Amino acid sequence: MITQTRISDFVEEQRQFFQTNQTKDVDFRIDKLKTLEQAIEGNKGNIIQALKADLHKPGFEAYFEIMGVLSEIKYTLKHLKNWAKPQKVATPFYQFLSSGHISHEPLGVVLIIGPWNYPINLMLTPLVSAIASGNCAVLKPSELAPHTSSVIADIIQNTFDSSFITVVEGGVETSKELLATSFDHIFFTGGTEVGKIVMSAAAKHLTPVTLELGGKSPCIVDDDINLEYTAKRIVWGKFSNAGQTCTAPDYLLVNRQIKTELLNHIKNQIKQFYGDEPSKIHSYARIINQRHFYRLTELLKDGEIIVGGETDLDNLYIAPTVIDQVSSQDKIMQEEIFGPILPVLEYTHLSEAINLVNKQPKPLALYFFSKNKKHQELILQSTASGGVCINDTLMHMTVPALPFGGVGASGFGRYHGKAGFDNFSYQRGVLNKSFLLDLKWRYPPYKQKGRVNSQ
Ligand code: NAD
Repeated sequence: MITQTRISDFVEEQRQFFQTNQTKDVDFRIDKLKTLEQAIEGNKGNIIQALKADLHKPGFEAYFEIMGVLSEIKYTLKHLKNWAKPQKVATPFYQFLSSGHISHEPLGVVLIIGPWNYPINLMLTPLVSAIASGNCAVLKPSELAPHTSSVIADIIQNTFDSSFITVVEGGVETSKELLATSFDHIFFTGGTEVGKIVMSAAAKHLTPVTLELGGKSPCIVDDDINLEYTAKRIVWGKFSNAGQTCTAPDYLLVNRQIKTELLNHIKNQIKQFYGDEPSKIHSYARIINQRHFYRLTELLKDGEIIVGGETDLDNLYIAPTVIDQVSSQDKIMQEEIFGPILPVLEYTHLSEAINLVNKQPKPLALYFFSKNKKHQELILQSTASGGVCINDTLMHMTVPALPFGGVGASGFGRYHGKAGFDNFSYQRGVLNKSFLLDLKWRYPPYKQKGRVNSQ
């Protein structure tokens, strides 16, 4: 295990490198982003293999994960010079002959802790923003995706000097050791309970944190929709990566009028995507480990299974499953599912769906399928969530110009695109004065006349 002393040593090395000001040069950052891009391009095969070994992740889904990072790099390269420019501000009349600007400064040495479900994307996308903003970084990938963790360590070691970017592999104890060290920012992606541990460890050093957490992201389906596309998009968003996606539709809230029809389309779509025996095809991932397998099989006890339900512990397989007749009191509605199980609840009036969503902690994503503009507006006005996608699932995350992050229990802080640049920088207000004029009245001894001075 890496000891606390060793951690402090390499954090100190990074601090010394940061003090050289090299990372403050935007051309340096651009160069490092291009280097990272090349390293990822050159390691696509290794990454895909590692994701397969850890999660049985289908090649296309692995490719999609890599493309997410590459498109973030491309977008950042296109806009970085503009984002990093000092921003002029107007100064008030009593500051005449002065100029003011906001400069975007890097935070220093940042720690990025990642989860296992999209272990490449959720480690390297924040790194893109950290580099773009001019920081040094320490990465701690998840020990539950060991092959991917090792590929990340190799890529970073072979690409960057450790005084600029480094990887520390390990589990909970290593993570705790890192959290005991003083960083300039901690970017954490993971579960809500661990998020609380991270935040209290950060408080000891007054380190600011970004918490990218999970939650129960609702998927509400109105009666006015294209059933075929809706079913296809829900099934894809729910069962990609075997449901182990932080923004996967957690549960379905469907208008009673179209419920039977929609469920028939969903059944049909599952068959179209995964065939009669999803366990035999390469397009379907596996559960990460036995602990999560047992946790998920417990959730199969609620309601009435209408599709799937088959499990195989030896292969960590749980079939794409839809459960009807679920109530909001059932266990499956009390925790984030994070697996391939879709519970279905119904409503008569949209207000019931809104009330149910608002009784849950604020989710990371909210999905609403409807052609009705007024209903779309109502949902946007009456609910809260980190992000929203109307008439699709997951896709809002792929737009780099849209800030990504949670609200309330699903976390705080934003990244992707400019939001990521802002997340890893701080705004420094700078006022530059002239020597041309110096008004005497601002200095003591103050004149003893006028209302203010006579009181
Ligand atoms: P996790 O919180 O168990 O682990 C995340 C990281 O924290 C790992 O690197 C792990 O080593 C470390 N860790 C675990 N326990 C710790 C402890 N006691 N002290 C210090 N560090 C500790 O999360 P996970 O199981 O890897 O991921 C699943 C969760 O992450 C789900 O809740 C999911 O919704 C959430 N998630 C959120 C996002 C997002 O972008 N908001 C993305 C993916 C996953």
